[in-house]
Amino acid sequence: MTLSYDDLRALDARHVWHPFTQAGTARPAILALGARGATIFAADGREYLDMVSSWWVNLHGHAHPAIVQAVADQTGRLEQVIFADFTHEPAARLAHRVCKRLPGDLNRVFYSDDGSTAVEVALKLAHQYWRNQGQHRSTYIAFEGGYHGDTAGAMSAGHSSGYFSAWKDMLFPVQTVPFPETWDGDTGVEDKEQAALDAIDMVFATNPDRVSAVIIEPLIQGASGMRMCRPEFLRMLEAKVRDAGSLLILDEVMTGFGRTGDIFACAKAGITPDLICLSKGLTGGFLPLSMTVARDGIFEAFLGQDLSRAFLHGHSYTANPIGCAAGLASLDLLEGPACQERIKAIEAIHRSRLDGLKSLPNVAHARLTGTVAALDVIGGGKGYEAGIGPKMKAAFLERGLLLRPLGNVLYLLPPYCITDAELGRAWDAVDEVLRQLVK
Ligand SMILES: *Cc1c(COP(=O)(O)O)cnc(C)c1O
Repeated sequence: MTLSYDDLRALDARHVWHPFTQAGTARPAILALGARGATIFAADGREYLDMVSSWWVNLHGHAHPAIVQAVADQTGRLEQVIFADFTHEPAARLAHRVCKRLPGDLNRVFYSDDGSTAVEVALKLAHQYWRNQGQHRSTYIAFEGGYHGDTAGAMSAGHSSGYFSAWKDMLFPVQTVPFPETWDGDTGVEDKEQAALDAIDMVFATNPDRVSAVIIEPLIQGASGMRMCRPEFLRMLEAKVRDAGSLLILDEVMTGFGRTGDIFACAKAGITPDLICLSKGLTGGFLPLSMTVARDGIFEAFLGQDLSRAFLHGHSYTANPIGCAAGLASLDLLEGPACQERIKAIEAIHRSRLDGLKSLPNVAHARLTGTVAALDVIGGGKGYEAGIGPKMKAAFLERGLLLRPLGNVLYLLPPYCITDAELGRAWDAVDEVLRQLVK
């Protein structure tokens, strides 16, 4: 039976529940037929330049032939195997490759399926790490605006992001401290950093030997609006956590795999966490897969003769071989000179175009880290205009661009394959839409 595009859209409208969507008011979903490079082809004949890397997962463009081939080969060889008692080549090799690129003795990979589960694993590992040493530590410190995923533990750590009020009474308490967000030309950054550090001191002082871990999105808070902090702050934070004898968890689900200009934000900042969560770019955007990487000392605290000391946690598809094979192919591309060149070129274009927009009266807090550029859009000179995000999204879709502002924050987070011309076209549209809004 062949179905027309209209039939397919009707089936979707009847049976599919879309994420982060109010179906009562949403426009019908765009039917994607295919995608190549940075472009998505829709059933209505339109093309969209994917300026959000399909929710921050895609690194090398859609349907990159090297990853397509790796996935096809692995599918025919071993598509899935139980990961207790068994292992396989792609899992062992990918773990080795990632650990080689991580700082310090982050040597032990626990695989799971997505960013949220990678964070759940980190929170649970920290908890049991202390328990295995006879300590009960149930206090966690997170940063205002931090977003760590949509499962219960991740929601608890990210409760201040504002997305979770419907589930408030499901969550465990987490202490939040200010995030010292900064931008180009910010003169108050050091005061903000000191305030954050003081707040952390306060939590440590009032909860002696109770703080299990501090969790942070390093350099860029993604979902709360591409809010950026300085590497200097992360170094001071690391020192503070070490002084207090607690653990540091980095949620690099979004910042990992080149987004910040370096392969990992921790490498860029020169810090070594105890646990790091990786997901979105891990497979180059092909398959859901994630990892929580632990330092040697964390892993060793789970060793013994007793099963109850072990980490009794796992998922049906843990370390899926096809996902791991995609991850290996993606890393080959990422580490190659062509991709590294593109990452630098993207940052340079972002820099010059962002600087060009700063004089607009409705642009504030321009900021840039690696391949992520962001700015706040201010409405009519009197505070933030409600509803500006959806308005801008529609204006960009009209112009063939997939750009999804976070509230009044406009950001560009392109796949690394994007050409200078494509990126220039996106910035031209941003320029045009911002100027139109001023009128
Ligand atoms: C997206 C995201 C998550 C959640 O990942 P999912 O794959 O959507 O579950 C967690 N942390 C950060 C920083 C993210 O950006």
